[in-house]
Amino acid sequence: MADRKSARPLIVPLFLPNQGCPHRCVYCRQERITGRGDTVLSPAGVEEILRNAAGSPGFRTDRNPETAFYGGTFTGLPLDAMEDLLKAAFQWVDRGPFNRVRVSTRPDALDGDRLAALKRYGVSTVELGVQSMDDRVLRQSRRGYTSRDVHEAVKALRRFGFQVGIQLMPGLPGDSRDRFLGTVDSCLDLQPDLVRLYPTLVLEGTLLAAWHRQGRYRPHSLKEAVALCTEACSRFESRTIPVARIGLLAPAELLEEGGVLAGPWHPAFGFLVRSALYHRKIDALLPEFPGGKGLRIVVHPRDVPLVRGYRNRGVRELEDKTGTGSLEIVQDETLAPGAPAVETVCASGGRA
Ligand code: SF4
Repeated sequence: MADRKSARPLIVPLFLPNQGCPHRCVYCRQERITGRGDTVLSPAGVEEILRNAAGSPGFRTDRNPETAFYGGTFTGLPLDAMEDLLKAAFQWVDRGPFNRVRVSTRPDALDGDRLAALKRYGVSTVELGVQSMDDRVLRQSRRGYTSRDVHEAVKALRRFGFQVGIQLMPGLPGDSRDRFLGTVDSCLDLQPDLVRLYPTLVLEGTLLAAWHRQGRYRPHSLKEAVALCTEACSRFESRTIPVARIGLLAPAELLEEGGVLAGPWHPAFGFLVRSALYHRKIDALLPEFPGGKGLRIVVHPRDVPLVRGYRNRGVRELEDKTGTGSLEIVQDETLAPGAPAVETVCASGGRA
């Protein structure tokens, strides 16, 4: 619980695109997402990346720096190759300035030797690319494991004392709103230490892109994906499970070259979800109806962008929803962040 409350770490990623993966998943193009091409990550590469990061102007030890092996199946690597990479990263924890190492992997790629090695080299958190807890979805997405494997993996990670992260992908082949929310509820039972949500995108060059062209796969619209992630976030966070990331970080070149063929990509996807969550709180406070009266939303200064929403859409939606003639956003530092207040205002400007 203590870690859940600590500041979000500064994570320096060590990408190993598709290394250790047993096959290529239908939606995956890690070499493009990570921008690393086919470069194989070596211990010398780890050393160079961490040295450069630690020497860069934005690096600060008070930002709780961690390093993380992402973008492949870390524990799917041969054991000695995995240990060589871990050793290279662990030096930077042992002598500083990094505090921890984390890794991401598949739920079916953990065994006792690998878990022991992760423990030996300072790994604190293992993030599982779970994606779905619905076996039909996992099968149709050709992930190659079942929800039972996820349960087993989480149990093993807990036994070794690791923090557990869960990555989910709404909108996979065979998925639906109900199935995804079922996945969320199953994950609540697993009590992960953090969650990441990556709505499924159709990337050029994947099997999913071929299915999309054939009409066999329809991605979520942006609106559907935002609504689903908003509900998922609300369920996790109401159980104090932090959602550390919402939406894929794609390199500019991938977008410029038309690499995202279809799906709910948006440059500020996470913000759309955070703003929608905030508006749920405002909606719950709206009076029956202010008629022609004005509406005053009082918020902590930090929350103003969440009320305004992306390009002021939040304000327009509130105006449409309530029919108010005047909407005012007032900043009040005495309010707690995340706790808006709503007042109706009569024509004279006083409280109604
Ligand atoms: S296991 Fe992960 S990194 Fe590997 S191919 Fe599948 S989605 Fe990509």
